[in-house]
Amino acid sequence: MRVAVVGAGVIGVSSAFAVKSVFPSYDVKIFADAFSPDTTGDGSAGLWTPFLLGDTPAEDIIRWAGNTHQWFEQFWKAGLSSKTGVSLLPVTYVTSDYEDYVEPIWVKFVYGFQKLSNERLQRLSEEHKCNYKQGIQYITYTAEPVLLLPWLMEKFVSLGGEIERRNIKMLHQLAEEGYDLIINCSGLGARELVADETMTPIRGQVYRVKAPWAMHCFLANDDASCNYIIPNIHSVVIGGTHQEGDFDRSVREKDSKHIYDGCCRIMPSLKGSEIIRAWVGLRPGRPRVRLECESLNLSMGKEFKMIHNYGHGGSGVTLCWGCAMDVVEMIKNLKVPELNSKL
Ligand SMILES: Cc1cc2nc3c(=O)[nH]c(=O)nc-3n(C[C@H](O)[C@H](O)[C@H](O)COP(=O)(O)OP(=O)(O)OC[C@H]3O[C@@H](n4cnc5c(N)ncnc54)[C@H](O)[C@@H]3O)c2cc1C
Repeated sequence: MRVAVVGAGVIGVSSAFAVKSVFPSYDVKIFADAFSPDTTGDGSAGLWTPFLLGDTPAEDIIRWAGNTHQWFEQFWKAGLSSKTGVSLLPVTYVTSDYEDYVEPIWVKFVYGFQKLSNERLQRLSEEHKCNYKQGIQYITYTAEPVLLLPWLMEKFVSLGGEIERRNIKMLHQLAEEGYDLIINCSGLGARELVADETMTPIRGQVYRVKAPWAMHCFLANDDASCNYIIPNIHSVVIGGTHQEGDFDRSVREKDSKHIYDGCCRIMPSLKGSEIIRAWVGLRPGRPRVRLECESLNLSMGKEFKMIHNYGHGGSGVTLCWGCAMDVVEMIKNLKVPELNSKL
């Protein structure tokens, strides 16, 4: 059985690793034109919290995010943090919008979930010069893709997985080359690769700074601006923007100012921290995550199967392992030997 995975972002690498682990006899190869540290996840802090997922059904978010949370927990408990980039972090989310807050559907997975008291909200509002109406706090994981991805890739290769840097123009091409199954994890690339016009970039600009004294994650949705501060192991990601439909990958001065001023207002100790880099990534936005199997006909009436796994918006890290587990289940249900004999 030959499986081609298109994409080497957090979704592609976790899918490829899961498939090769569960079906060791399969030949699994990743094809991509960008690898870590140049994928979308590499610039992100990898905070586990579902975000920007459109109308993705709640039961899917719960299953995917829950499985991924457990996966990170295993790394944490196995002492693999320095290799996988998994940290445990207290998070405070505050908002000036009365409508914004409903008890999140994922609350059962995180540790120590609490709504903020009015006194705490008032104090934070004074400190941040904002007008917060609601807020929550919880403890969850970050899994830094810039560490997680090379680690996962190494595991995948040590199981016998293969890698090729190549731009794929059409998925059919891989079927013609003899692949029995194609797993499409092309992120925003799905716009061209499978002509999915519902794919939209959600532009995110961030700074990565050196501030080892910052040990608390703040996510603030204020009337004036949205800002966040997410500590990673060696640096802190401060942000940010989520501009829909915006393909601009250049760093914008206006956004830099918004990020720096907003984050320093929340955490004044960030002033004067060394800036490691400014970065822009395009989240693969979609009305809902696409994770489904599709059959296509080749010439001569032959059929081939694809599994699409893309469109994870602002939550690719949060959902990656749960989605990879669904890919594995789909392959089990494909009854692959029969599929193979048809090709
Ligand atoms: C600023 C910012 C902050 C974020 N923070 C978080 C966070 O804290 N937590 C979280 O869960 N998520 C976060 N995200 C979202 C997360 O980064 C994405 O959802 C995730 O990285 C998407 O992964 P992916 O593998 O689908 O796509 P990508 O990482 O974009 O990978 C796509 C892959 O497909 C390949 N490809 C595409 N088309 C082709 C083709 N035709 N031929 C060959 N290869 C192709 C590319 O080369 C690449 O390897 C953030 C995103 C941004 C921008």
